Amino acid sequence: MTSLQLPILVEQYKHMKQKTVAHTGLDAIADEQFARAITWIDDLKTGMIDYLKFPRRVTDVHFPVVMDDDSVKTFHGYRVLHNRARGPGKGGMRYHPTVSKDEVAALAKLMTWKTAVANVPFGGAKGGVVCDTKQLSQTELRRITRAFVIELDDLIGPHTDIPAPDMYTNQQTMAWIYDTFDVMHRGQNNRAVVTGKPIELGGSVGRDQATARGCLYATRQLLKHQKVPGLATIDGARIAIQGLGNAGGAALRLFHEAGARIIAVSDSSGGVFSASGLDPDTALDFKRQNGSITGLPGAKIITNEDLLGLECEILIPAAMECQLREDNAASVNAKLIVEAANGPTTPAADIVLHEKNVIVLPDIVANSGGVIVSYFEWVQNLENQRWDLDKVNTRLEKRMLEAVDAMVESWIELDAKSNSGARQRTSPTLRDAALVTAIRRVAEVIMQRDIWG
Ligand code: NAD
Repeated sequence: MTSLQLPILVEQYKHMKQKTVAHTGLDAIADEQFARAITWIDDLKTGMIDYLKFPRRVTDVHFPVVMDDDSVKTFHGYRVLHNRARGPGKGGMRYHPTVSKDEVAALAKLMTWKTAVANVPFGGAKGGVVCDTKQLSQTELRRITRAFVIELDDLIGPHTDIPAPDMYTNQQTMAWIYDTFDVMHRGQNNRAVVTGKPIELGGSVGRDQATARGCLYATRQLLKHQKVPGLATIDGARIAIQGLGNAGGAALRLFHEAGARIIAVSDSSGGVFSASGLDPDTALDFKRQNGSITGLPGAKIITNEDLLGLECEILIPAAMECQLREDNAASVNAKLIVEAANGPTTPAADIVLHEKNVIVLPDIVANSGGVIVSYFEWVQNLENQRWDLDKVNTRLEKRMLEAVDAMVESWIELDAKSNSGARQRTSPTLRDAALVTAIRRVAEVIMQRDIWG
């Protein structure tokens, strides 16, 4: 790449970063994180910055669905491809009433950085349908999914854009996507069109725990690098986990097995605390039977806000975005935050935590275990192979360690830069370092491919 062209964006960012962000949705978070990261990359051209800032393609569809009462309702769906320089688009499908174009575009951008820092040969994409799954029958959900896939037509495919589950979609949704696409493309192996499928349909063993397992491997490797002041090991560490779904529930089990003491967990109904530690089986059985974790015998009821401020070694936000903000970040009492969720920390909170010396292991590294095992599923589907759990976990660990090592190496380089006195700047965060690694990897491939024409 050629010489430095400091973009206007960077100059704008210098003023912007001192201000409170008025809108703290995922789109604002993704934009601000990107704007901050590019201030560290001297040789990024203005044209490249613009290209990476915007999604490559935004698809916006409306489609009719016959409901159980014979009425016809029109639904609104999106699929955004942010970038596919490094490979086909990859990202989940979200079914939620608040799904919007901006949110889907922000999540697609996050996926571009996540796949790059995890070094899997995918780009970034995301999709969603505006709907409330709690108000829909299985038949209606199936019809919505099939109609959405028909509308998307060849925009998705094993070598173009590969969906996966996200909030309020699951293995069954992926099975419907696969089946509909397969009906539309007879006579070829279509399994790789979607990941997160049921095992019998070509899903990978280990995918259900992959995100939490990746968090565990990444945390271990970060501690090995001695990058968290006052914390050397997971063994004996006190941990608080916000969210008890796929990511949080598995994190409870896996960090407990690794020797940590899980002192608090929560779900959307609130949280529970036990100074002596919670037993994963008891807690997860209780949640399964009662629908929520509050009321767990022998544990004290706390709020989600209480949980975020608990004195502990590791805090794992595993629920949703924007949980740590400028107004509550100062009360965090953990040494390390491991972002199992996407976008749980706003940029303003990042600054507060950085000043407090609380280390944040960023989402694009911490929760990349999910997309890494999705990549393994895709490879198994294309090769008609089935790997065993040992092979999946061993390969996942290797990739997680490589991602952490790359982030730490980048952090050391940026830190030296910040100390060099060449330019006035604050010290880098691990998020800056991970994003710089990702952006450089994507930009390098774009330059090698000469995408400009
Ligand atoms: P999920 O729907 O299975 O679980 C979400 C959990 O969060 C539930 O227990 C819910 O009760 C809880 N929750 C919701 N609102 C809450 C609130 N305000 N306070 C506390 N808890 C609340 O979702 P998931 O798949 O576990 O995903 C959780 C997060 O992890 C999301 O940000 C998702 O994008 C991210 N993520 C998940 C995966 C994966 O493989 N599942 C991979 C990468 C990132």
